[in-house]
Amino acid sequence: MTALQASPNSTFIINDHIITGEGVSFTPSPNTSGLFKQGFPDTIVIHFTAGSSLASSVNVLTRPDSGVSAHFAVGRNGNIVQMLPTNKIAWHAGESHFQGRSGLNQYSIGIELDNAGQLKERSDGTYESWFGKVFEKSEVFEAKRENQHATGYWHKYSEIQIARTLALCKALCEHYQISTIVGHEEISPSRKVDPGPAFPLQKFKELVLLPNTNEWVTDSKDTSSQREAHDQFRRDITSPIKKIANVSANVLNVRKGPGTSFPTLDNGLNKGEILKVLEKQGEWAKVSFTKVGWVNTAFIHEVTEKSPFKS
Ligand SMILES: [Zn+2]
Repeated sequence: MTALQASPNSTFIINDHIITGEGVSFTPSPNTSGLFKQGFPDTIVIHFTAGSSLASSVNVLTRPDSGVSAHFAVGRNGNIVQMLPTNKIAWHAGESHFQGRSGLNQYSIGIELDNAGQLKERSDGTYESWFGKVFEKSEVFEAKRENQHATGYWHKYSEIQIARTLALCKALCEHYQISTIVGHEEISPSRKVDPGPAFPLQKFKELVLLPNTNEWVTDSKDTSSQREAHDQFRRDITSPIKKIANVSANVLNVRKGPGTSFPTLDNGLNKGEILKVLEKQGEWAKVSFTKVGWVNTAFIHEVTEKSPFKS
């Protein structure tokens, strides 16, 4: 890390819905529909800007005629710009649906990461964004998942940018009753692809929502153990779904760890809900749905990837 970068472990203070801390600034946006209703926000939506710089994106998100805004934008050097206090509704999600809700702006905090988005391969082996900026191969994440629509070339996020976004989300979770982290592509799948395959969304959700998993590779100078962790992390996020299960109990507790001594997450799962099985320890399975947690395998029914509804 260079001296210009804020430390991913620096603390944030939330006072009157405004965050202060190292590398955090506030540029107000007029683009809001007013205060959240009581009990909200309870969700965080992750986006990429598909823009050329943090400054240009903040400019758009705070311009009165743009019709868009977000609560935060996170730069590639880890700097964070807040644009709306987190008790006010921003305009980042647009038409969106998730778990029976529509119009996720009224429920969620929007975080935009400075990232050029999807890239085109050029004949000379470099890559180009929609606005004409050229990127070297080292800046490009190639998504090869055959079962995903989003194959192709994507601008990589920086490690410090992801680490700072993680720290920001953890601070927000401590202050608000956040139960859900989603990518924009998950709530507007027909029209949005952000944050895209270069963002480790599943791992990120797990790190935000499970309090004992704090680690992130943050230094760009690879030591061999860091490189190993990074490689594992890349394998985790690109490996195909191993197993799917559905819930066979009427109501199933989800816990923060593999055993009844671990606390349960706020809401249990209902019969028939579909889970992705990530790993197993004894009679416990770590599963992901909109969150990540542990369930007792006696109460789930594991099925093959292709037919999750067949029993
Ligand atoms: Zn978005």
